[in-house]
Amino acid sequence: MARRKLVYEGKAKILYEGPEPGTLVQYFKDDATAGNGEKKAVIDGKGVLNNRLSEFFMTGLAAIGVPTHFIKRLNMREQLIRAVEIIPLEVIVRNYAAGSMATRLGMEEGTQLPRPIIEFSYKDDSLGDPLVPEEYIIAFGWATQQDMDDIVALALRVNDFMSGVMHGVGIKLVDFKIEVGRVWDGDYQRLVVADEISPDSCRLWDLETGNKLDKDVFRRDLGNLTDAYTEVARRLGVMPTNTATMPKPTLIN
Ligand code: 5GP
Repeated sequence: MARRKLVYEGKAKILYEGPEPGTLVQYFKDDATAGNGEKKAVIDGKGVLNNRLSEFFMTGLAAIGVPTHFIKRLNMREQLIRAVEIIPLEVIVRNYAAGSMATRLGMEEGTQLPRPIIEFSYKDDSLGDPLVPEEYIIAFGWATQQDMDDIVALALRVNDFMSGVMHGVGIKLVDFKIEVGRVWDGDYQRLVVADEISPDSCRLWDLETGNKLDKDVFRRDLGNLTDAYTEVARRLGVMPTNTATMPKPTLIN
């Protein structure tokens, strides 16, 4: 088994040093959290499914020219990614009102929005990832105006791609969150889609029944989360053949 150095452990993933400088290994855990960590569970097979699904979406994005951090999947739970400097924002794109937007504005969940709406939260668990206006982002130096223009363009391309792919398998893309990272090629900076794209970070509703096929199943106690994610993977043809859990690599600290 590979012996790897831990770089960062988050709620759903672990980052290890990669085999080459500028690379990392991203390990998908089975841990699920909601309400900023207030609700927790270990859900067998979730990490395997998210690894496969994130690979599927990131590979598809690369194929249409949207840059991502993804290099290749290594095994059931791990993928090799480019090390990026994460911009401390959650970039949320909404096509229909749901979740915090529906609550904040008193809108009925599922109301179609006049156009995709992009919003930004400052990534800080201790503050509960507060919604922030672009003005704050630029004033506090988290990103430049040019970065923001690029992030909006990137987010809209991801939305078009994801909406189309999901529509093709009978699923409505209600909203999603991405994270964006900077990579440097010499002095030249590029922004790439980072972190993960999976049912943990999207709202996915069955087009016919309206059934939820995303993390809201866990957040709202609506049933079995693995079944919901497996259904998404099955429809997309990326069903893993063996969802057996893999032990974690040995750490050298
Ligand atoms: P809301 O603001 O309505 O709670 O979330 C909007 C969208 O962004 C949903 O698809 C939700 O899954 C995603 N999202 C928001 N915050 C987070 C987060 O901290 N982690 C993950 N994985 N997804 C998030």
